Amino acid sequence: MTVTGMSGKLRAIGQDVHAWLPPRHGWGLANCGLLVSRDTALWIDTPYDHQLARAFLAQSGAVLPEGVTVDRIVVTHPNGDHMWGAGVLPRAEIIASRQAREHLHFDPHPQQQHALVGAVDPTTPWGAYVVEHFGGYDWSTVRPVAVSTAFTEELELTVGAYPVHLSVLPSGHTQGDLFVHLPAQRVVFTGDTVFGSSPEQPGDHPVHWAGPLAQLISSCRRMLETGAETFVPGHGPVLDAAGLRGHIDYLEYVQERAHACHAAGLTAAEAARSVIDEGRHPELGLPERLLVTIGSEYRGIDGGGQPDMVATMQQVAALAWDLRTGEAPPAGRGGRP
Ligand SMILES: [Zn+2]
Repeated sequence: MTVTGMSGKLRAIGQDVHAWLPPRHGWGLANCGLLVSRDTALWIDTPYDHQLARAFLAQSGAVLPEGVTVDRIVVTHPNGDHMWGAGVLPRAEIIASRQAREHLHFDPHPQQQHALVGAVDPTTPWGAYVVEHFGGYDWSTVRPVAVSTAFTEELELTVGAYPVHLSVLPSGHTQGDLFVHLPAQRVVFTGDTVFGSSPEQPGDHPVHWAGPLAQLISSCRRMLETGAETFVPGHGPVLDAAGLRGHIDYLEYVQERAHACHAAGLTAAEAARSVIDEGRHPELGLPERLLVTIGSEYRGIDGGGQPDMVATMQQVAALAWDLRTGEAPPAGRGGRP
């Protein structure tokens, strides 16, 4: 896997607004946005590493007026796949919610993740999963990204004459989510509150680290209430309002199954397996991620705290191995890095 197979393409989705869309789905292949005016430009999120971010920057440069640079980056939530590319714009102001800034330390540090990819044993379920899904990125030169402007609730920016509304969302995908509404273009950038999928371009199962699903559902409804017509999800194809309503149906289905499995005494891993076995969304990739989303829903019911991200990912890798081979991971190779 190389950067050439992962680099996105810039697509105009409204007046002076573009979406940078990776060629396929998968862990870390995030959508980004570009809003252009005569004197300034704004990115919404960045790709996962500097190689991808440089590709996005070069394509952005091709549509910017002479002398205009990208001065600001809005980060929709504090995950590396939406902000670790910011190092290619060292002078840009980085804008995020205050909750995002406070929760940055729950994500692994880029150098930790770089070291992990080099250190895992690819013959174990854990190592195989890490190499397959994260081995194509290069974080060797990536340093942690500092948020320069943090806010609570709402922030209104202007880019040239265009208003940009930023709204902080309650805990859902992470504990620092926001969405970006461009009322002049009737466009919303949803961040990872929404994972896009369409019949022509199926995506992946969402992965929600915080929850609960009830809040993700109400956040999706709030985005619909803006009257926007175009919704750029954090990953997957661009949606219209009907596509976003379809995503709400998915979230309600997982919510209902998670609560039923919890009441029946199943573990989160067993519940994920049972939802996968129901086969309601065979078109979506990465079904093992249901374990994370259902685990977050369980913590909401049981009153638990923060998930252990690495331990959770090891369970995800074991479930992926199980789904692929039909067997439990080999004894004694259960996947410690
Ligand atoms: Zn993401």
